[in-house]
Amino acid sequence: MNIILISNNLAKARTLTLTTKHFVLLAAAFISSSVLLAMGLNYLSLRYADKLDSPTFRSLVLSVHQEEHQKAQSYLRDSLNAMAIRMGQMQAQLLRLDSVGARLAELSGMKPQEFLFNQSPGQGGAHPTLPTQDLSFVEMGNKIQELSAILDDRSDKLGALDSVLMQDRLKKKMLPSVMPIEAKWYSSGFGVRIDPFTGRSAFHEGVDFMATTGTPIVVAASGVVVYSDYHPEYGNMIDVDHGNEFVSRYAHASRRLVKVGQVVVRGQKIAEVGSTGRSTGPHLHFEVRHRGLPQNPSRFLKMPG
Ligand SMILES: [Zn+2]
Repeated sequence: MNIILISNNLAKARTLTLTTKHFVLLAAAFISSSVLLAMGLNYLSLRYADKLDSPTFRSLVLSVHQEEHQKAQSYLRDSLNAMAIRMGQMQAQLLRLDSVGARLAELSGMKPQEFLFNQSPGQGGAHPTLPTQDLSFVEMGNKIQELSAILDDRSDKLGALDSVLMQDRLKKKMLPSVMPIEAKWYSSGFGVRIDPFTGRSAFHEGVDFMATTGTPIVVAASGVVVYSDYHPEYGNMIDVDHGNEFVSRYAHASRRLVKVGQVVVRGQKIAEVGSTGRSTGPHLHFEVRHRGLPQNPSRFLKMPG
């Protein structure tokens, strides 16, 4: 590059020739001077920062600090409030668990001193009440641990009750297991058989007990009578609901002795053998249904001998 310099003092123009080397030197000088300037300013600001005593500057720094502090405070307060709400919900759950547990204990006939459902484990006393004032994080943490311990205790107790009730239910034989009639053998079993009316194979949904007319029919398990009427095929029929979706059926009776809605105790006489409906002779047709599906009664009945 050529730069032509013209001066009044000079009689003639001078020519300056700039090469790449000149440019590189110029750039290096510029960069190094910038760096030196920045370093110098930085040093000065650090060296004399504590001597900056401008009230404007101080209030600026202070307001930034206060804003951050307020943000942190409101965040903490929000967190604590959320935790307090959660604790309130946990306490409500506990109260509900307590009432359920107390009812279960009463039903199962357990010793009440073994299951004090309104006491905290180990320490006794009342439930922690809902916080009416702001709690510290430590206090809140303690409260939540306390609640968690109570919840664990309650689940343990309810688990124990559940297993006791299960055993109890088995003991009480809610399943139709009592022989509905004093008989030693079935005249016709459950499953596919030759239909006595059509002579063709058909599925027999229960078992038949041969017996003379008037022989007592007893209910195979405790329950509630849900059907007691004359049925065109089953004749005089009684259905008893035993809970857990189990129903037992007694058909072809000569007499029905119970009404719909009546509670019956296992072994109680509910009807007498007959030959009503689609029947070739006096017998009891007995069925066990689960969720409406016929089950093999011999799975439930305790056969004599
Ligand atoms: Zn039958």
